[in-house]
Amino acid sequence: MIEKKSKLEIKKEIEELREEIRKHNYQYYVLDQPLVSDYEYDQLMRQLIKFEQDYPRFVTPDSPTQRVGAKPLEQFMTAQHLSPMLSLSNAFSEQELLDFDQRIKKNISEQIYDYAVELKIDGLAIALLYENGILTRGATRGDGITGEDITQNLRTIGSIPLKLREFKGMDVIEVYGEVYMNRENFKKLNEERLKKSENLFANPRNAAAGSVRQLDPSITAGRQLETFIYQATFSRNDYFSTHMELLDFLKKAGLRVNSNIKLCATIEEAIEYCNSWQKRKNELNYDIDGMVLKVNQLSLRERLGSTSKSPRWAIAFKFPAEQMTTIIKDIIVGIGRTGALTPVAILEPIFISGSRVQRATLHNEDEIKRKDIRIGDTVLVQKAGEVIPEIVQVIKEKRSGKEKVFQMPDRCPICGSQAVKLDEEVASRCNNISCPAQVKEKIRHFVSRGAMDIEGLGPALINQLVNNNVIKDFADLYFIKREELLALERMADKSSDNIIEAIENSKNRPLSSLIYALGIRHVGIYASRLLAEKLDNLLDLEKFSIEELVKIEGIGPIMAESILLFFQQKENREIIKKLQQAGVNFQSEKKTAEKGILEGLQFVLTGTLKHFSREEAKDLIEKSGGRVTNNVTKKTDFLLLGRDPGSKYQKAIDLKIKVITEEDFQKMLKS
Ligand code: NAD
Repeated sequence: MIEKKSKLEIKKEIEELREEIRKHNYQYYVLDQPLVSDYEYDQLMRQLIKFEQDYPRFVTPDSPTQRVGAKPLEQFMTAQHLSPMLSLSNAFSEQELLDFDQRIKKNISEQIYDYAVELKIDGLAIALLYENGILTRGATRGDGITGEDITQNLRTIGSIPLKLREFKGMDVIEVYGEVYMNRENFKKLNEERLKKSENLFANPRNAAAGSVRQLDPSITAGRQLETFIYQATFSRNDYFSTHMELLDFLKKAGLRVNSNIKLCATIEEAIEYCNSWQKRKNELNYDIDGMVLKVNQLSLRERLGSTSKSPRWAIAFKFPAEQMTTIIKDIIVGIGRTGALTPVAILEPIFISGSRVQRATLHNEDEIKRKDIRIGDTVLVQKAGEVIPEIVQVIKEKRSGKEKVFQMPDRCPICGSQAVKLDEEVASRCNNISCPAQVKEKIRHFVSRGAMDIEGLGPALINQLVNNNVIKDFADLYFIKREELLALERMADKSSDNIIEAIENSKNRPLSSLIYALGIRHVGIYASRLLAEKLDNLLDLEKFSIEELVKIEGIGPIMAESILLFFQQKENREIIKKLQQAGVNFQSEKKTAEKGILEGLQFVLTGTLKHFSREEAKDLIEKSGGRVTNNVTKKTDFLLLGRDPGSKYQKAIDLKIKVITEEDFQKMLKS
């Protein structure tokens, strides 16, 4: 039976929700210490909007739905903005963007318009006032009408010109943009704070906000902040007719404008551009939390107008959340393939970036101590890109006192052997080479994609194979009989045949994949390739001395020692013998590779390529002796430029790296 709520109850519920949102606004805007993730905040806000739409009589002017941000901090002088700095209304789905477009169409009837689609920089909004071209004031957004005067702090940021290069004789210009911290600087800052046992910033946005709202400008100066400007108000507003023209002027004036912007004639085109950035947002070295669609024609903007909180001519398309808060139900200890005891947090399940998350790595005991993570804690969890979910921080305000401190076991939880901790290592290790957990992890690694790529051999089947004593190590895979597979649970004729075939096919994998598959500590895919290039046969690796190994470019002493140690162990030599008997390819691919044409050259790829997928381009480069890296550095030789490039393009220009088109690249390969 659905209970009907009284008006009084509804009013109370709405007021409670408002109170909660106000508390989060204060934590986020004033203290830079949010208690919930942005996604959770947005959900609360949506709930309030819905309530107020259903019960308009309860809308009050002080409701968070009617106002922007929060009141400025009292320690700062206040600054009145030239025109209100509003927020943006949000869309979380394509349908909501289509609805937005319908609203625009309805409001401006037959007029032609297009959208300027920009990145939504995840930083802190600022306003810079220029009088006769000179920076006279810099402020935060505050409550949209009045912000905090942080001029001295903003003056320390290199990309904010103290004098405009051009200002068309306008006596007053206020420009609006975002201050942000790039990911590299954010990581460095948190590492330093960790060393000094200071509170960590949850994300680059909070770090930027915390850095710019300092009473001491020298702290801001040390934080390496950057800016992008995307809007302006002038003393005369008839200079520009479109947003694109305005941005062009801002660039010429010497302000930093983001180059990833596209003019889209239809909402469908705008959606496509949004989706393309959702996929490749991690190529940027700064965070974006969505895209912003803005009607390009300034005259139409005037007609569309604004509400008290946001303009009607723009909308933010928000990407799925990468951070969420949840509760740690338990902490368990897993064993990696090298025997490391790895604590793992078991979480109250949550959805992050569209997938269900119920575990997060805690790395090691030191990490748990440093972040003071306890069982029962409310924590902020992050899953960025392909990375395994991790705990960003504990929300200590939510502690009840019942949380339990975790104790790392001194024995392997699987085989019971004593766990040892070497002085220089952070992890304790189970030193029993035949510990079933280690064996299973090694097999899992052996069959994985970049290694022997044996499809169909998932963790459940590996468990059965080891638990039923069908195999003791990964080399035994090559001696499995069809009947042995058929005898296992949930294995039918077809699936058994497929697995036998996949195992058989893996015998022809290149030597570099085999070296990687062996799981030698510290030897990753790239080092495996370097080694494979120097060998004729896998068995040569046994004969190399440390001195010979470190002569190979890219192989350091730790790796060399680890390789030597691997081959010294009797169990490993036996595994290699079994692999040889099974007929696994030990021969180097260097004999067949066309060595030379791109030998020693480093490439970085950006944007969407027309003629190849990224994997294909990478393959071609590597087959010709080149190497593909993720970031543009001074060592990069070429940037291969695709459509809608990311920030790597700008970086390549800044570092004077040669930028080539796909056509240039094809010519290079042909030559
Ligand atoms: P918003 O972040 O949703 O969007 C508006 C802001 O986007 C602008 O003010 C501007 O600063 C920024 N922006 C970035 N790139 C832009 C571009 N190219 N063009 C125009 N604007 C651009 O709105 P908001 O009012 O700043 O903040 C509300 C959001 O803040 C919430 O949706 C939530 O994500 C977060 N928040 C979180 C908490 C929390 O407790 N976690 C609390 C309050 C707010």
